[in-house]
Amino acid sequence: AVFLKLLSELDGIKNAALLIIGVDLNGRVPPNYMGVTGSVELGEPDYAGWAFVDTLANLGAWIPSTYESVHSGDSETYRHPSATAHRIDFIALGGRATLGDTDSWVNPQFDNGSPNVDHHMLQVKCSGAIDNNREGRRLWRPRYDRDRMATQEGRTALHEALCAYEHPGWEVPADQHCQRLQTFLADTLETLFPAEKHASRASYIPDIVWDLRRAKNHFKARVRHRRQMWQDAVSRAFRQWHREEDYDVDYLVAREGLMYNLAAAAINTATSRIKKILNVAKNDSMRKIATEGHQGVIQQERDDIWLNYFGEQEMGERLEVANFIEAYKNSGTPSIVENYRSLFISSFLGKSYHKTLRTLIGPEIEQLLHPLHCGTRQSTPVAFPGIYVLAALRKLARDGRSCATLYVDTKAAYYKVVRDLATGCIDSDAQVISLFRAFGLDDEDLHDMMATIRRGGMIAAAGVNSQLRHAIKDLHPRTWFVTTYHGGGALCWSKAGSRPGESFADVIYAFIYSRVLYRVHEHLVAEELNFTVEWEADAGVFPTGQGGTTEQAWEATWADDSAYVVEDECPNRLVAKARRVGALVLSVLTSHGMQPNLRPGKTSFMVQLRGPGSTTTRRKYFNRGKAALTIPDLALEIPTVCQYRHLGGVIDLKMTFKPEVRHRLAVASQAYESAKKLLLHNKDLELPTRVALFEITVATSYFNLALWKPSGPAWTSLCAGHARLVRKLLTRNVDHALLFKVPLPLIMWVTKCLPIDLLAKTQRLSLLVSLVQAAPGLLWGVLQEEKDWMATVREDLRWATSGREKHWPMLGVQAWPDWWRVLHDSPQRLKRLVKCRLVEEQEARIIPEATELCLWAMARTLRETAEHVGRTVVWQCRQCKVGFDTKASLSVHYFKKHGRVAMYRLFTQGTKCRACGTECWSEGRLAAHLRAAPLCVGALQAAGCRADRLAPGFGSRVRRKSDVEQYTPAATERDESGGLPGVAPTWHPSVVEAYNEICDIIQDELALPY
Ligand SMILES: [Zn+2]
Ligand SMILES: [Zn+2]
Repeated sequence: AVFLKLLSELDGIKNAALLIIGVDLNGRVPPNYMGVTGSVELGEPDYAGWAFVDTLANLGAWIPSTYESVHSGDSETYRHPSATAHRIDFIALGGRATLGDTDSWVNPQFDNGSPNVDHHMLQVKCSGAIDNNREGRRLWRPRYDRDRMATQEGRTALHEALCAYEHPGWEVPADQHCQRLQTFLADTLETLFPAEKHASRASYIPDIVWDLRRAKNHFKARVRHRRQMWQDAVSRAFRQWHREEDYDVDYLVAREGLMYNLAAAAINTATSRIKKILNVAKNDSMRKIATEGHQGVIQQERDDIWLNYFGEQEMGERLEVANFIEAYKNSGTPSIVENYRSLFISSFLGKSYHKTLRTLIGPEIEQLLHPLHCGTRQSTPVAFPGIYVLAALRKLARDGRSCATLYVDTKAAYYKVVRDLATGCIDSDAQVISLFRAFGLDDEDLHDMMATIRRGGMIAAAGVNSQLRHAIKDLHPRTWFVTTYHGGGALCWSKAGSRPGESFADVIYAFIYSRVLYRVHEHLVAEELNFTVEWEADAGVFPTGQGGTTEQAWEATWADDSAYVVEDECPNRLVAKARRVGALVLSVLTSHGMQPNLRPGKTSFMVQLRGPGSTTTRRKYFNRGKAALTIPDLALEIPTVCQYRHLGGVIDLKMTFKPEVRHRLAVASQAYESAKKLLLHNKDLELPTRVALFEITVATSYFNLALWKPSGPAWTSLCAGHARLVRKLLTRNVDHALLFKVPLPLIMWVTKCLPIDLLAKTQRLSLLVSLVQAAPGLLWGVLQEEKDWMATVREDLRWATSGREKHWPMLGVQAWPDWWRVLHDSPQRLKRLVKCRLVEEQEARIIPEATELCLWAMARTLRETAEHVGRTVVWQCRQCKVGFDTKASLSVHYFKKHGRVAMYRLFTQGTKCRACGTECWSEGRLAAHLRAAPLCVGALQAAGCRADRLAPGFGSRVRRKSDVEQYTPAATERDESGGLPGVAPTWHPSVVEAYNEICDIIQDELALPY
């Protein structure tokens, strides 16, 4: 009875990973008990034996020693004094582990130490795998009843509890103080506002889904052992067939198969019901999120929605947090540690505290930073420094003045900063001095810095009171970090850096950096290297050009990213100025312990030389093809580039925006790709929902449209590129082959996606609002002098108010104060108007576009029929008998089909023209030279100077890349000594080839005997 009770207890362990039962049963088991015993029979089965195998069957366990194929040798484990042998000891195996090879034998040699040798040891050896896909540990995420917290009673209770908090003594270190407070807060909230047990988890998933899901999962767990059934049945059937023994396959398939199908049907039904309900709910909620913003669901719940729901549905891969924390910068080799950035992880308590301090220091930041020092102060969008640089460059280009832009990049700016310079001495003077020494400061600079630090750093200089300053200082002693490979042992105690990721990092950095910027600016003004603009304060977007207040120019700064614009009428003077500015910026940065990054693509000059004297200047400063500006004061060079990625957008030398189009569209299609699987191509979502999601996932990557000129080739290709992305949304609705024939205007019309030009209008108008709210006079002045942007904005305002002119101020300089008041005091009014007008505009465009489409279709049909009438084809390939409309398409055909290239490309090699001796300094410029100089090509042809390899064609990717790499402002130089006399080029090799072939044929014919 005790034994039977024990057996019944075993039921609870059948889900163990591995189950091994060893028993001196003192009973005999029946053979051929399906799934438990095999055919090895020994002794008459008895009651204990039957009870044991029944239990094992229930547990899913089996006895290896009863199977012929598993057990070897004798089976008896007990020898009675009367010399009869019995099999009464057993080992049974079970559990969820997958077992492979198993051997079983009796080892009579083993001495078990008992006085009379009666039992022999039974041994089992098996190998296999233990399945450990079990849910790991979970992050502790306390939940509280927030609704109750927000009630009046809740507030009162919380207030009382907080008042009762006993502050630790002053001797308690800050870390422990924080920990104590956190524990106190967590405990208090847990007692006062315990979360409801079965609060629904995601706002949009109906309760019934959770119930169904719970029931389904419960049932699934109960029938889990059936999952393997068919695989098992197959191998069993094969074995039965192979050995010609009966393994009960018929019975198994009939009974267990029915049970399996029954269970599977139940699960499938539940799943499809859940899916149906969810699809409806999801579609509704996604559209709501995309159009109106999220409906009262907070971050934490959102995480649950996304992880629980999408994770389960999309077979999501849940990664270890550590894999995410290792923040790869997405460029460069992943195996190099430099290509990672550090992450700051903080508690809620820490975050709130930092934010509180930050709010307190807000006014001083506002006051300290210079007008175009953006990023740290409020309501200054990244478009401010961006459009400042562009507007200045456009204005100078229009006026034909030479200019140079210095883009400054600092190595590990936020990490390698001596924070004491902002806050005053944190630890000890000795430590600060050793830091500055490590950053390479000389004695004079060191003295200067130490004086500032002793006075309380830049924070004190900004007029922050000392209590606040010390509180800020207290955020920084004994800072440390660990890595993702951290094993609980070593950590790094960091002594410099602003702790990027924390809300205070940019404040610390901004305070220190502002010192650098002021220092440079003082020099620029004193040495007359700066320029000024006229700001008509009362004119706004309606400048009269009659002059206003003079504003000193500043560099444009966003966080640690600065751009200095230098200009002059005379190219020679400009380069001299640029050199001096470069020297100043670099030396002031270094004297503050910051290291300018002079690698290619980092700190660079973009030089535009215009007007008389520019070639002489190029010869003087960029001799021998040099692509860098020497700074003699510091004995180093700053590279000169033809394009630079500034604040997320690419600025090119000629301001065509063509590199930016490629960059922008690449970013957008990357955004599309990453949102495609889950959202944009999700077959459960309707088209309007997917379009709304497109607007928030993809269209937001065009963040700098306000800076663009809404016309010209670059703009057109951006618009078309965007429309092509929109077209992908219809992949699920339109047949693939047909989709690419649908005209783009029709795509925009069907999807109702906002086209780029309307997106740009919205962005320009919202930038206008930001300008009114926060822009300094300097930025206004530059835009007023540049004129074009303001003209576009006036046009936008006219568009926005059209049909509603009565309710809005007039469009004229006299009405600017009214506009200013509207934009400043009620920006929402303009926002609502724009939203309204966008819908109207899209509606209004349908009819004209539809008309044009119809006309286009008619024209096409007409042309197709006209072709039969006989149309003269000017450009044709005689070899293939195909005609083309343009010379360009014929040459594309020649190249693609016949590998034929233009003459000059056959002779383009290196950077110097071997015919006339012109040194071009880059392959691209040599190609351009030869394209324009047929006499040189002829001379090269006559001399037989064919290139070893074919130079890339104009507009090709390789050409673009090498043009950027080999760019130099250096002027071409002519070497008069050598060279070949110019010759008119003769036939193209393909013509020669054709000629030869014709000759061959004719001669062959001639050779034929008549
Ligand atoms: Zn052809
Ligand atoms: Zn030449």
